[in-house]
Amino acid sequence: MGRIAYVNGLYVPHSEAAVHVEDRGYQFADAVYEVLAIHRTKLIDEEWHLDRLNRSLGELQIAWPVSRRVLGILMRRLVRRNRLYDGIIYLQIGRGVAPRDHAFPKEEVGSSLVMTVKAKPIDALKGSAPCKVITVPDIRWGRPDIKTVGLLPNCLAKQKASESGCYEAWQVDRDGKVTEGTGSNSWIVSAGGELLTRNIDGNAILNGVTRLAVLDLAREADLTFVERPFSVEEAKAAREAFLTSTSSFVKPVVAIDDQPVADGKVGPLTRKLQELISARLEAQVA
Ligand code: PMP
Repeated sequence: MGRIAYVNGLYVPHSEAAVHVEDRGYQFADAVYEVLAIHRTKLIDEEWHLDRLNRSLGELQIAWPVSRRVLGILMRRLVRRNRLYDGIIYLQIGRGVAPRDHAFPKEEVGSSLVMTVKAKPIDALKGSAPCKVITVPDIRWGRPDIKTVGLLPNCLAKQKASESGCYEAWQVDRDGKVTEGTGSNSWIVSAGGELLTRNIDGNAILNGVTRLAVLDLAREADLTFVERPFSVEEAKAAREAFLTSTSSFVKPVVAIDDQPVADGKVGPLTRKLQELISARLEAQVA
């Protein structure tokens, strides 16, 4: 059975799924998105993703194409139609199709809604092999807290990482502080033993759902953590480093700009958080 996509009310073969040339998402990146993990046919952290989607839409004054409740139903229907057991669902909501003009359409054109799925193993432990990262200047716009499809700086940075044999690029602000990866949040255990990740006030990063989950797990396990910016120097001198995202959960970072993090092995706190997030995932689908 071929993959099926959802495009503005229709279920179509993935290979034939298309949008109009004047879709504002296509022309202006005037659209937002979410990626949810599917494990054993269940949507993981659905409410957190929909909360963030609601915030992204609100910040850009894009209307919900369908109600939040109906979007949940449509996502589940697409998972069923694709007989998806483990994988991801990608959803994109845009300001719709209108004659090209930077200003919003004057008449109500209706938001667009596109969803696709991809089957892939979801195993929070197996899926998170150690990786290396490079650092690059953060050249993104001023609102990376909104999950828009305007990802060109992220693509350029990820390409550079890939050409350097690395999994991810950690973006660095003008003060020399790490903001986040191109598709993940950045964490370290500092030389002093502090678990650190960047704070969300200041809108310099996307508030990752996995970031929120790890913060919850740290709270429950009585681990102390601080949400604050940390510098590239602090990261390079760290005891441990890792990144978090919906597709890679807690992924150890064992080198930054070709310098090993501590002894270059996965650290104990990273390992503990990997185990906790794996247990949390399985508990959600039990
Ligand atoms: N930061 C950026 C820039 C991202 O694109 C993503 C995920 N796509 C994340 C962080 C991690 O977010 P989440 O844990 O919700 O996947």
